[in-house]
Parts: sequence; structure tokens; C-alpha cells
Amino acid sequence: MHLIELGIVQEHKQALIDAIARLEDASDGESAWFKHYVLKGETIWQATSTISHSWFWKSVITIKDMLVQLAGVNKTAEEVLAECTRHGKFQVSLLYQRIRPKGDDVGWYRAIHDRAVLPKHAVIVILACQNKLYAIDNLQHRGFCFANRCVLCEKEEETTAHLFFACSFSSWVWVAAYRRMGHFDPPNTLPQVLRWFALYNRGAAIGKAMRRCLLACTIYLIWRERNDRIFQDKRTDPQALSQKICYVVSTRMYYLAK
Ligand SMILES: [Zn+2]
Repeated sequence: MHLIELGIVQEHKQALIDAIARLEDASDGESAWFKHYVLKGETIWQATSTISHSWFWKSVITIKDMLVQLAGVNKTAEEVLAECTRHGKFQVSLLYQRIRPKGDDVGWYRAIHDRAVLPKHAVIVILACQNKLYAIDNLQHRGFCFANRCVLCEKEEETTAHLFFACSFSSWVWVAAYRRMGHFDPPNTLPQVLRWFALYNRGAAIGKAMRRCLLACTIYLIWRERNDRIFQDKRTDPQALSQKICYVVSTRMYYLAK
């Protein structure tokens, strides 16, 4: 095992996996030294780490434990390693694919994954879906003391769900923008519209692109209107905002169609 080589890239998880695989092989002198002085007669599968060990060694043991866990009761970790070969050669990438953490399938990905959606719009949609926008209720949860009043309708408390859908101002904008663009069915909640995009968004590519662009643009411009009111004391009425949404979407679609 080439410890120096691994030391250079020791923060890379694949290098740690490679370290374990090479320890199994142990055909070079450095591996023999490592086995004698670090493993002290144990196999890598028996080895443990203590608080006094180096970060590198503790990381190797963590990966080893993940391999053992992946193998379960019906296989050995060595058999898992043996399965990660291509043309008879061990492939670190194959093993990494098996042990890497896998995230949940997120519906909003399909709703915004389109070149019609501007990146700055997509970012706001993602943050809204993850409830990570700094709406007043989120700031209050982080310990900031603000009076919670929605600046768009000036009636209800501001939450992400209220701001984009329940708010009377936003509802008016959604309906007006969707009607102008030939749709009569604006969404009522974020989970609802994202589920619809994930399951039923079929038809011509240009239609799908426009719906995605319209969704992301509406959310982005509602959020920007909220920020303009708070930070710049600038206000746009809902009719003008819906017109602006249609203008941005139409311009974007025209640009893509060229
Ligand atoms: Zn409101």
C-alpha cells in the first residue's frame, strides 16, 4: 500500500477504500510493514481504532465498518470487494457507488431541471422546497426577534408556505400570470405543484419547458418583490408583477426557440 500517495489525497473517501483493498493484497514491502506494526497480526477486518489513533487510521476503520455492514450476514466483506471488479480488476469507483450515502428522490429536481429555468430562479425554488429561505418564521426559529407580518398582504404571518401560495397578493399574481400564459390552474401549495410536475408533466417539450419556466419565475419574482419591499421600500402591484412574469417567461422561450 502506498501510504505517501494516500496521504496526499487522504481526504478522498475513494483513497481510503483503496487503502483497504490494497491491505488485502499486501504484496509490497510497505504493506507488510503496515501489517506488522499497525495491525499487529490482525487482519484489516479485525482491526479497530481508538481515540489516540490518527485521523487517517480512524477513517480507514470507518470505511471498513461500512464495508462489513454492506456485506450483511450472507456475505463477507471480502466477497463484496470481489464483486467490485471489472475485467478482473478491482475498481474503487464500483465500491464507492455501493457505499456512498444515497439521498431521497426529490420531486422539485424534475420541476426545475430544464434549460428554460434560469439558475437564479432555480436556486430560489430549491431553497423554498427545502424551507431554507429566510422567511420571518425561519429567522424567528434562529433566535431573531422580528414582528411577523407578511409584507405582501400585510395581514397574515409570513411563512414560506404563506408567502408563495396562501397569501392573497401571491394568489392574485399566480392566477393572473397563469391566465395570461394560457393556463387556468395555478398551484395551491408547493408539494402539490411539484408532485404534478413529477407525475403528469407530459406533452411537447416546449410546453413542459414553459410550465417549468413559469413556475420558477413566479416563485422567484414573488420572493424578490418581498425583498424589495423590505430592503428597498419598493413596491410593485400584483397586476404589474404578473405582467413582468409573463414578459420574462415569453422572452426566455423566445430566446430558446431561436
Ligand atoms: Zn401575505
